Amino acid sequence: MLAFEHQFATLPEPLWVACQPTPVEAPRLIAFNQPLADALGLGETPDDASLAEWFSGNALPPGAEPKALGYAGHQFGNFVPQLGDGRALLLGEVVDHDGVRRDIQLKGSGRTPFSRGGDGRSPLGPVLREYLVSEAMAAMGVPTTRALAAVASGERVMRQMAEPGAVLTRVAASHVRVGTFQFVAARQDHTALKALADFVIERHYPEAQQAEQPYLALLEAVLQRQAALVAQWMGVGFIHGVMNTDNMSIAGETIDYGPCAFMEQFDPQKVYSSIDQGKRYAFSNQPLIAQWNLARFAECLLPLLEGEQETRVSQLTDILRGFDGVFAAEQQRIHADKLGLDAEADQASQLMAALEAQMQQGRMDMTATFDALTQLARAPGDTSRQALLALSATPEALAPWVDEWQAHQVASQNEQRWQAMRQANPLIIPRNHRVEEAIQAANDGDLAPFYRLLAAVTTPYTATADTRELGQPANEQQQVLRTFCGT
Ligand code: AMP
Ligand code: MG
Repeated sequence: MLAFEHQFATLPEPLWVACQPTPVEAPRLIAFNQPLADALGLGETPDDASLAEWFSGNALPPGAEPKALGYAGHQFGNFVPQLGDGRALLLGEVVDHDGVRRDIQLKGSGRTPFSRGGDGRSPLGPVLREYLVSEAMAAMGVPTTRALAAVASGERVMRQMAEPGAVLTRVAASHVRVGTFQFVAARQDHTALKALADFVIERHYPEAQQAEQPYLALLEAVLQRQAALVAQWMGVGFIHGVMNTDNMSIAGETIDYGPCAFMEQFDPQKVYSSIDQGKRYAFSNQPLIAQWNLARFAECLLPLLEGEQETRVSQLTDILRGFDGVFAAEQQRIHADKLGLDAEADQASQLMAALEAQMQQGRMDMTATFDALTQLARAPGDTSRQALLALSATPEALAPWVDEWQAHQVASQNEQRWQAMRQANPLIIPRNHRVEEAIQAANDGDLAPFYRLLAAVTTPYTATADTRELGQPANEQQQVLRTFCGT
């Protein structure tokens, strides 16, 4: 049994509304994350039919008290004072085996008071996409919400056309977003604002309680985690696609997988999302946007600080200015790992910048490039060197870079540094065309490609003959140029 608790319910009402799921016609369990369920203390697992009932919302697991959470958000820079869970319900919190309190949420479970014009449902495609990508991120050690279950609803949802529907069960450190703070701050509800800030400190950043100014310490701590998160994203070529303030978790997890994608050929300006026409959320813009979102968060905290307005603003601004330094330090560490350098090596940024230029000029696949480098570090020699050079359209330009890198890398002689290099350079990521392929097949009733891909992306550092094929970059015909939220 999941031992549900409901601390969120201690927060004042504008932050949540009790709401029941709308039953679906014919729930059928598609995927269930047994290791995650074990970590959440589920104990003996019920049969698939019962799981399908629970995780579609048709018959809630005992102790669940569903609620829709309120939040606001800047969407592509424009403030919307009320968004909220329009198709999601928080069932409650469960303290996991590590003592971490985690939210369990249904997504696609029907209309709520926050639904506006929406149907409260989710098509199967986005559910499977989130399942695959969030589990891949977790396997790569990137902080993320998790997928506990996917249940087909047996109903059709109308989007561009009728599509099969599904419900995803998501597990998160919490569902508090920057937009949650904006929701109460915009209403000037300072009681709710303070309650929310204190709740977040207690749940995610207890060390801030000891600080002289806990709310400043909160901003600093959120900034640290967010900077580290975005640095990790970029290390594996991840583009979130919709970094609106309502899609940024205060706990520092990747959340709300919409039109996200993994970059194939390296290009800092890369955008896949069809709705991001201004390229606001391009690959290399992500740190800047995180900082912008944090500034919106800081604005919310302003009324909670003591002292003159001017002093409060400058205190918050000073912390926000620290973002660049924190981000640079995180990235430096990741770059050193990816290149197999000494952790403190000061050549990391220069070597990485030069390699990025090479990848761009040589139209190199980012994941394949770092895998080839990792293999070259393991087994230096002509074969592995040629394998790396062969990834570039301009190998003669890449060769001098390889020589320079060889002179600095230590992974060949240092097992620990090689292991760090391997961990920083996954062999298998959820390739966009493979994700699309799995979704297409599932829409046609064949889940085999989904299961095969899920197995591959959740073991990102080991390739079998089978999974190696799934790890290959797309060829010209397979390439995915645009992604859609499809919600
Ligand atoms: P998202 O783009 O998924 O981050 O969602 C933005 C807002 O739209 C949130 O308030 C969602 O709850 C809401 N939303 C998205 N899809 C639906 C839907 N099918 N029905 C109701 N609300 C939705
Ligand atoms: Mg969202």
